[in-house]
Amino acid sequence: MIQTDIIIIGAGPCGLFAVFEAGLLKMRCHLIDYLPIPGGQCSEIYPKKPIYDIPGFPEILAGELVDNLMKQIKPFKPGFTLGERVESIQKHNNGFTVTTNLGTKHTAKVVVIAAGLGCFEPRKPVLPSLSLFENKGVDYIIRDPNQFKDKKVVISGGGDSALDWSIHLADICSELTLVHRRDSFRGHVDSIEQVNKLALSGKINLYTNSEICDLVGNNKLESVVIKHEEQQIKKEVDFWVPLFGLSPKLGPIAEWGLNLDKNAIKVNPEDYSTNIPGIYAIGDINTYPGKLKLILSGFHEAALMSHSAFKFVFPEGKKSFKYTTVLGGVHGF
Ligand code: FAD
Repeated sequence: MIQTDIIIIGAGPCGLFAVFEAGLLKMRCHLIDYLPIPGGQCSEIYPKKPIYDIPGFPEILAGELVDNLMKQIKPFKPGFTLGERVESIQKHNNGFTVTTNLGTKHTAKVVVIAAGLGCFEPRKPVLPSLSLFENKGVDYIIRDPNQFKDKKVVISGGGDSALDWSIHLADICSELTLVHRRDSFRGHVDSIEQVNKLALSGKINLYTNSEICDLVGNNKLESVVIKHEEQQIKKEVDFWVPLFGLSPKLGPIAEWGLNLDKNAIKVNPEDYSTNIPGIYAIGDINTYPGKLKLILSGFHEAALMSHSAFKFVFPEGKKSFKYTTVLGGVHGF
């Protein structure tokens, strides 16, 4: 069990920046995110889209912003638990214990919910036998590409995720097949070109105007049936990964006893505290009069939250707040 000062649920831009603000006040943080990578919406939905409203950056790609945030918080050595969803928060004398879907437990004096739009849940294909093979050959999120080493893998989808993973996995799998129900893709032109080249060179089997219409196996997935025009092609596989996008769901947060307004957590705009002392909510997940769902607003909220959270982490302590430049940068803190 990990014990820290602040547990941050959600490693989107606002959760990441909270590590910096807390770090300036000498509070240690551990981040938990259901996604396998940090960055929240910036990494999952629009890593290659430019953002124009981050102060000091006339233009920055969302993915670059996440890389910069990771660099900025590195001196504070935050912990990460990725690929796990927080299911419950329990209050006790010494703070809170947070438990994930895999049973991992962390304790801290303060919990900061920076859960954005909630957990991204995969859009699932409609196939009667699907549930029989979930986690037994059917995966919706690629957490560790090495699990596919020397395996036969079929990816379905026509967006950036399906294209990027097909390119990446072509060298890792023993056989990689990409199946898409249309004849054109929705992704970046560069990625489409790369996939077409890999298909021409025989490194990817490409089926367009096709879809998976059946799954076959005994206890685990053994083959998929590809419907291509009037034909049905049975293909032996170890894994089928339908990448049809992720849609956000509030999920377990609704059960934590917090005051909600629709899908957002009501907070006090003085410090972004919730109705439960010691639990804060920052970024897209919170609501208060005048709320703007912008990264900029979440950064500001992270700063005010940290100063308020200090009293829970160091009840006897006296804050000595300095500007980051006073001691020659964060390394001086
Ligand atoms: P998120 O980025 O949503 O991250 C929340 C994280 O919490 C997610 O990774 C999720 O997996 C995780 N999570 C949720 N519940 C749990 C749980 N129970 N357990 C574990 N993990 C959990 N904003 C701007 O300021 N400028 C822009 O130009 C801009 N452009 C945008 C373009 C698009 C296409 C979109 C979709 C949004 C844009 N936004 C923009 C909005 C901006 O992305 C959000 O305001 C920002 O991502 C909010 O950050 P966050 O850290 O609060 O949440």
